[in-house]
Amino acid sequence: TEYTPDDIRKMVKDEDVRFLRLMFTDLLGTVKNVEVPISQLDQLLAGKLMFDGSSIDGFVRIEESDMYLQPDLSTWMVFPWGDEHGKVARLTCSVHTADGEQFAGDPRNNLMRVLDEMKELGFSDFNIGPEPEFFLFEMDENGQPTKKLNDHGSYFDLAPMDLAANVRRDMVLELEKMGFNVEASHHEVAPGQHEIDFEYDDAIRAADHIQTFKMVVKTVARRYGLYATFMPKPLNGVNGSGMHMNMSLFDQDGKNAFFDENGPEQLSQTAYYFLGGLLKHAKALTAVCDPTVNSYKRLVPGFEAPVYIAWSGANRSPMVRVPIARGKGTRLELRSVDPSANPYLAIAAILAAGLDGIKNKITPDDPIDRNIYSMDGEELKLDHIQKLPSTLHDALQSYAADDLMKDAMGPHIYQNFLDAKNMEWSAYSQNVSQWERNRYLDML
Ligand code: ADP
Ligand code: MG
Ligand code: MG
Ligand code: MG
Ligand code: MG
Repeated sequence: TEYTPDDIRKMVKDEDVRFLRLMFTDLLGTVKNVEVPISQLDQLLAGKLMFDGSSIDGFVRIEESDMYLQPDLSTWMVFPWGDEHGKVARLTCSVHTADGEQFAGDPRNNLMRVLDEMKELGFSDFNIGPEPEFFLFEMDENGQPTKKLNDHGSYFDLAPMDLAANVRRDMVLELEKMGFNVEASHHEVAPGQHEIDFEYDDAIRAADHIQTFKMVVKTVARRYGLYATFMPKPLNGVNGSGMHMNMSLFDQDGKNAFFDENGPEQLSQTAYYFLGGLLKHAKALTAVCDPTVNSYKRLVPGFEAPVYIAWSGANRSPMVRVPIARGKGTRLELRSVDPSANPYLAIAAILAAGLDGIKNKITPDDPIDRNIYSMDGEELKLDHIQKLPSTLHDALQSYAADDLMKDAMGPHIYQNFLDAKNMEWSAYSQNVSQWERNRYLDML
């Protein structure tokens, strides 16, 4: 809902809200909260609420550390869980510089910028339906996550195997109170692994939802003595957690621009070009959509995660799938994305890749409707099938080699992301792991 400042003032009074939690997201995708007492409301509504940005990952140099929070009033929401100190409301904010400009290092601002480019091409919305997966681990007496799973259920299992059904139901209820349209929730393939799907929304709102979703899931899990993690591959030998992204463009009449009754497979030329862009930039996109060292331990054969750059309408293993829904539900599903991604950056990079396909009329290769994993090297070569990067390092090299990423991230985020991630890789590659000691210590 679009609220005016007066609407907000009225709701504060009616609901006796005592605190405002102001949310924004840093470079690495972590939600930052600045909590202020309600006495600061007027300052905030006037866009005059200042904070120090120099301590935020990937934000600013010391000399320009004064930043302002500009609330997006349409994100107003009172948290359903009470507090002994009074009610708390949330507003997602855009970060502005001291000169009143949108700060280029704010991932949400950056996504808005790419969405403006989309609008110039005649589209009204970029719709995103995410499918976040997560694991629930037991916590120890210090509130730290253990490696003990809370159940041994499996895909679509019913109680009593799926002990987490109550936890999940509670999560769904909280999400609904916060305005989510939850479509489904189920136990995933791995023990202790779950998925909750909510209805697609326009890109900014979908990214905001992902951030709120993670917070709610973690909060509810704690009530049950559980720790919810969105780490992509927390355990050896079982599926990792992905966050498939379903996507479509709507045109100005609200029609799904990916649907064409008379097109091949009832997909429009726009859909094919968008897909062409996704495939062309797949390697660089992976750095943003799978941005951790651990992400690449999920992108391996045998665990339902994609490994090759290919698409299909028929089978579920490739990087991009075209689900069978048509009409309003016509969409592409990018299956490589995992929940460690900063949703604002991932969606901006995905959109920029798709728009590049549309602008430059990039035609995708033919679909691969066979099981790629059973194809041998010769067949893969004949079909020109390439692999996704298999380490963060490889992905970063592709990112640095793809000029589109500069446009997609903007220069500030582009460079800060690359620096931060190169440091992450470097720290990892210098670390001697338990696996190495197990393997080599007494053998060599
Ligand atoms: P899967 O079959 O891969 O498990 P799900 O049913 O779990 O898929 O999730 C499908 C997601 O796609 C939901 O979030 C849904 O709202 C979303 N979706 C449906 N139509 C569209 C569309 N036109 N554009 C983007 N997302 C869509
Ligand atoms: Mg699903
Ligand atoms: Mg489904
Ligand atoms: Mg799933
Ligand atoms: Mg899916």
